[in-house]
Amino acid sequence: MERRDYYEVLGVPREANEDAIKKAYRKIAFEQHPDRNPGDKGAEQKFKEATEAYEVLRDPEKRARYDRFGHAATGGAAGGGQGFDVSGFDLADALRAFMRDFGGDVGGFEDLFGGGGATRGGRGARRGDDLRVHLKLTLEEIATGVEKKLRVKHLRACATCKGRGGTGETVCDQCQGRGQVRRVQQSIFGQFVNISTCPKCGGEGRTVDQRCAACGGDGRVSQSETLAVKVPPGVAAGNFIPLRGMGDAGPRGGPAGDLIVFIEEKEHPLFVRDHDHLRLEVPIGFATAVLGGPVELPLLGGGTARLDVPAGTASGQVLRLRGKGLPGLQGGRGDLLVRVIVWVPTRVGSAERKLLEPLQDAPGLKPPRPGKSFFERAKDAFAG
Ligand SMILES: [Zn+2]
Ligand SMILES: [Zn+2]
Repeated sequence: MERRDYYEVLGVPREANEDAIKKAYRKIAFEQHPDRNPGDKGAEQKFKEATEAYEVLRDPEKRARYDRFGHAATGGAAGGGQGFDVSGFDLADALRAFMRDFGGDVGGFEDLFGGGGATRGGRGARRGDDLRVHLKLTLEEIATGVEKKLRVKHLRACATCKGRGGTGETVCDQCQGRGQVRRVQQSIFGQFVNISTCPKCGGEGRTVDQRCAACGGDGRVSQSETLAVKVPPGVAAGNFIPLRGMGDAGPRGGPAGDLIVFIEEKEHPLFVRDHDHLRLEVPIGFATAVLGGPVELPLLGGGTARLDVPAGTASGQVLRLRGKGLPGLQGGRGDLLVRVIVWVPTRVGSAERKLLEPLQDAPGLKPPRPGKSFFERAKDAFAG
């Protein structure tokens, strides 16, 4: 395989400083990390390639050699086929290098996306994948909390072999049950010990003689199931609810991953959510805006409330009904924020016309002339 220039792999100029190299690698590594791209060989290859480049360029001595001699300095084909070549730098090494420098950054995503880095290459049963599902809720359901049924398809332990994958279980003869194979390599930089997952048993340390026909030796079969999820009141889009152990079972008796339920919101025809508040637009008559008066409002989930519009309310003004919003996840309750719009009819009958015509010339109902200067307006205010 043609090897790309390390600077090109990380997308940095040759004079890039340590910080720029670290940043460039971090970005690529997070995007291509195998935990984020399960089963994607292309991403895995990019992750390994970037890590290999980073391991050389972050070390001033190795970098200086690489700058002078290119890949030959890192013990590739020209160096006699020893050590640090692509096949020697395997995924386990790459994951370790990544965790060494960025393990602390991973935090949530390690929890969320299966923690493959922690178990891969280790001995014993492998954990199954976490699964994600989306759950769309109405504002009414969010206001009260709700129990929902979810239809999921996940891998569960095979009933035929009870998850063992077959019969005649024995200790793996390639790794003697350790689940890992070690390989010592000499390179121009010194000795490397590569520890990688045993290819024969996949890190489990054991194999079976007779594979189970029902699951092909994997110990898992695909299964559809209906699960109940309890959603507390006050959740918002982006919140998630983990159902522990409801993801995919691990192969051959490995622990199951989680099913992660991501909350989404359905749009409401009347109400718009604003954190724990609800926003509502309500038309009012011209006379109510001027004189004030009660207006009946719909409430989320049914029923009505009375809003007292104060005299002299302008169109677009927002009035607040305390405690008529959504419940907060941490308790409390938001408000209903009512934006009143003065409604103007597009057509009126002759009776209304008779009422309105005298108002047109009533001096108290004339808006101030536009274009008055600030000083004139101030004078009016004092005079009035
Ligand atoms: Zn089976
Ligand atoms: Zn093995």
